[in-house]
Amino acid sequence: DYDIVIAGAGQAAAQCAQSLRQGGFPGSIAIIGDEDAAPYERPPLSKEYLAGKRDAARLALRKPEYWQEKQVSLLTGRRVTAVDRAERTLTLTDGARVGYGKLIWATGGRPRRLSCPGAGLAGVHAIRTIADIDALKADLVPGARVVIVGGGYIGLETAAVLRAMGHEVTVLEAQERLLARVTSPPVSAFYAELHRRHGVDVRLSAQVSALRGEGRVNGVELSDGSLIQADIVIVGIGIIPNVEPLALAGLPCPNGVVVDALCRTQDPHILAIGDCALHPNAFAGRAIRLESVQNAVDQGKVAADTILGLEKPYAALPWFWSDQYDVKMQAAGLAMDYEQVLVRGDTTAPGFSVLYLRDGRLIAIDCLNNARDFIQAKALITGGKLIDAARAADPSVELKAVID
Ligand code: FAD
Repeated sequence: DYDIVIAGAGQAAAQCAQSLRQGGFPGSIAIIGDEDAAPYERPPLSKEYLAGKRDAARLALRKPEYWQEKQVSLLTGRRVTAVDRAERTLTLTDGARVGYGKLIWATGGRPRRLSCPGAGLAGVHAIRTIADIDALKADLVPGARVVIVGGGYIGLETAAVLRAMGHEVTVLEAQERLLARVTSPPVSAFYAELHRRHGVDVRLSAQVSALRGEGRVNGVELSDGSLIQADIVIVGIGIIPNVEPLALAGLPCPNGVVVDALCRTQDPHILAIGDCALHPNAFAGRAIRLESVQNAVDQGKVAADTILGLEKPYAALPWFWSDQYDVKMQAAGLAMDYEQVLVRGDTTAPGFSVLYLRDGRLIAIDCLNNARDFIQAKALITGGKLIDAARAADPSVELKAVID
């Protein structure tokens, strides 16, 4: 039994355990994770790791000896299958029962699968874990025809790497533009053009109706009847939060597990953090789940503080990045419920930014190879001051100088 059990051994778990020790937490801590690896970084999976530019050992979030030094027990290769809230015990896949004083749920999400015929054929891959990328790489033959279902960040990063490796790549996006859920039309258009210029066949408003093949996939059928030949299909259509054991234990989980600003669930002995936590977000003005390193790290810290008795509500500015070809996108704030979109610079070449305004204030920004705007915009968004839109749209004026 442990004073603290963290379920899930990912980014949020690693941060929370570290912050507990940094804050002087003296009790016992265990992290239980269903993957074999100690906590590692996921962002490089669709970037340097897929490209073969970084090996698995260099994905680790902490050196292997760190966990021992900090007296954190790492129980990997085991899944929590049930939570008994009355007894405060967990059941693991190997049948073991583990007691907890406080439970921190940090289980992330699993890739959503296609529901159409053929979804289970061999040659259909997801992008979430080291094992997923290893399986994909083992399946890729030179010049493979790869169809990526989903034009979100993970699908697009994967497309960029596979193109650079010489594969034939098609991206199918069901919406009428790429990245529709997270960004605005000018940024979507920029990425469609960027990928097409690199030889990716980007198809918008493309609905997959079936995967074809006998045993192994050999084609993707669209609802307009067209068929695209494929040696490999990669599905990048979002994640489902891993919260079933908590839902079965009676905690509300409409889309992730409901937590308050201190990362507490309705059960005083259970907290939740990271991709699986439906939390009140000041920047969204409502409860949302965020899927980002920033959110996992900052909520890991908040949960540790809550346990240490320091009540520091979650209020961090959301930020995110994506690397595709030689373009680094950095986003801050949440591009939702905006009233005005300002393009700063020339969208035909990276080095521009897109600003999102509400009530005359900057609420979010997407920066394309424009780290300077990113840094200055973060302060503007958190400052919440009125800005001069005409000056903000002028790239010759520094962003920090556009407060009205
Ligand atoms: P995870 O890191 O997913 O960790 C959860 C762990 O819990 C997993 O190992 C899971 O298998 C395990 N688990 C699940 N259920 C159980 C159970 N019942 N028992 C035990 N263990 C369980 N974010 C960015 O900000 N920038 C990026 O560029 C970026 N790129 C990304 C690229 C890829 C390919 C992926 C997949 C994600 C990317 N992200 C990026 C998102 C970021 O990696 C996640 O937001 C972050 O990892 C979330 O951390 P987490 O700890 O909540 O979940």
